[in-house]
Amino acid sequence: MSTDESFIRDAIDLARAAVDNGNTPFGSLLVVDDAVVRTAENTTRSDDDIAAHPEFKLARWAASELEAGEREACTMYTSTEPCPMCASAIVYAGLGRVVYSVSVDSLAALRDDGVIEIPCEEVIERGNGSTTVEGPVLEDEGLAIHKAFF
Ligand SMILES: [Zn+2]
Repeated sequence: MSTDESFIRDAIDLARAAVDNGNTPFGSLLVVDDAVVRTAENTTRSDDDIAAHPEFKLARWAASELEAGEREACTMYTSTEPCPMCASAIVYAGLGRVVYSVSVDSLAALRDDGVIEIPCEEVIERGNGSTTVEGPVLEDEGLAIHKAFF
């Protein structure tokens, strides 16, 4: 298994933990030099906060706690492709790379509402961000959680 796949499995585990804690199935982590520096799970329900997406929380944390060079060297692994709110925060934070499991198109195919179907890469490009985006990775494993939940 590649390093990317291993970290994507960690993100999927965090999504599973979010469900166990009463939230929707989304989880993410930040990795610098193959070391996990921060993890987050979705807490929109338990915090009653629409902005409590894991990617948004991690981008805010990185912007305040990491140096610019560390943010450029940082990869965000996330169980689902970041939504436009989170993709914007990723641009503002200047993160170097995003790797996701489930694409926004695959998520939208499962759900009738609640998905803003704009690819992460499009938001980053239009925001003149330099973040590279890769995915889907191990999408069947990521999708299994969504299928069980939605
Ligand atoms: Zn989001």
